[in-house]
Amino acid sequence: MTNIEKQADEILALQSIFEQKFRLMNEDQYEILIEFDLSTSFTIKFDEKISTIQYLPPLSLIINYHDEYPSDDPPSFILSCFYFAKIDLEKLCQKIENFSFIPGEVCVYDWIELIKQEITNELIIRTSFEEQQNDPRALNGYTTENAKKIFQYLIDYNEKRQEEVFRNQLQSCSICTDIIPGIDCIRLHRCGHFYCCNCLNHYIRMTLENGKFGENLL
Ligand SMILES: [Zn+2]
Ligand SMILES: [Zn+2]
Repeated sequence: MTNIEKQADEILALQSIFEQKFRLMNEDQYEILIEFDLSTSFTIKFDEKISTIQYLPPLSLIINYHDEYPSDDPPSFILSCFYFAKIDLEKLCQKIENFSFIPGEVCVYDWIELIKQEITNELIIRTSFEEQQNDPRALNGYTTENAKKIFQYLIDYNEKRQEEVFRNQLQSCSICTDIIPGIDCIRLHRCGHFYCCNCLNHYIRMTLENGKFGENLL
């Protein structure tokens, strides 16, 4: 098999694994959005603050093929991830570079597995770190000045994703236990409780009549 054939095969395989998270940019360049599999008690930390989250935005890996891949050399790549400190993103680039490359064998899937191991149980948004080296392969890592913003952004992103998942699943009303699509539930943001519209309307009417709106259920 020629390099070109092996490259085409690898693209087909990655396309079928990553589906809409795979984007062909031109015939020898593509982007893969890598999602981390977070443990159920995954936390992000910043200063003294800790938050448990379920979803992180994807990390972007851009691969660029050349004529000597995979016969002689690995492809070139760029990593982009705004919630990695610039220095950590550079270290990850180094790890990929040091990954043992077997001439003749494609390596991008193994690289992705390697990247996914970077985050499993927690993410610490750091406020100080050693000088970075300005590796051009590490794009978009954060610096100390925007660390606080990143922490809040990740919390907001997680809430949005959780809300999406909630809306797309069937839920059981906490009062009448009817099973209804999440999109038809009314969810109370402060405590996360949710009810079907009927029950909530009924409840509101009842409490308005008693002049005690919002005292118990909510
Ligand atoms: Zn109900
Ligand atoms: Zn509640």
